[in-house]
Amino acid sequence: MQLRALISPYTSCRVDSGITISFWYDAWLPVGPLIKFCCRGLQCFPILSEHAKVSDVLSQGQWHWPRSSDPQATLVRDLAAALDLSNHDTVLWSPHKSGHFSTANAWECLRVRSPKLEWNNAIWFDGQLPRSSFISWLCIHNRLATKDRLSTWGIQIASVECEFCNTRRETREHLFFECPITQEIWRSLLA
Ligand SMILES: [Zn+2]
Repeated sequence: MQLRALISPYTSCRVDSGITISFWYDAWLPVGPLIKFCCRGLQCFPILSEHAKVSDVLSQGQWHWPRSSDPQATLVRDLAAALDLSNHDTVLWSPHKSGHFSTANAWECLRVRSPKLEWNNAIWFDGQLPRSSFISWLCIHNRLATKDRLSTWGIQIASVECEFCNTRRETREHLFFECPITQEIWRSLLA
């Protein structure tokens, strides 16, 4: 139900039998989910439980509405009567004009955008090796499993000294920039 609230603004439904469509929580009418549209919520149609399906009021293309004294009930019934019933119950992904869901499009809709970081293109680029990019990303955030960090996690390690030179504590800074062994590797790479 928590996820339903998250994606609800991006989905709508086309109705056929209504067996798979939630009467209260799916956006099967143009006004969106009835649980939000109806001012009195479930009291708009008290006989229909929170778990009711559209099929509880629809059978073989005919609407069968329970009695209701709620003033909004008439509007709901009119909106339903105007529906062009589909060939099958379908959930549509509204942000895409085709109505088809894709994880890429969903991610674009749901993610919180942050300013582009200056090192972005050095890590993520066409032809990148995902494993290398991920390790670089961990390194920038100082989340690599260097010995100094392992020791803070309570992991038993024989020594926190650098695995290469064995003279200094193995931190990210030492491993990549201060260690004489890795400095030598950098020099040969950049030569
Ligand atoms: Zn070292």
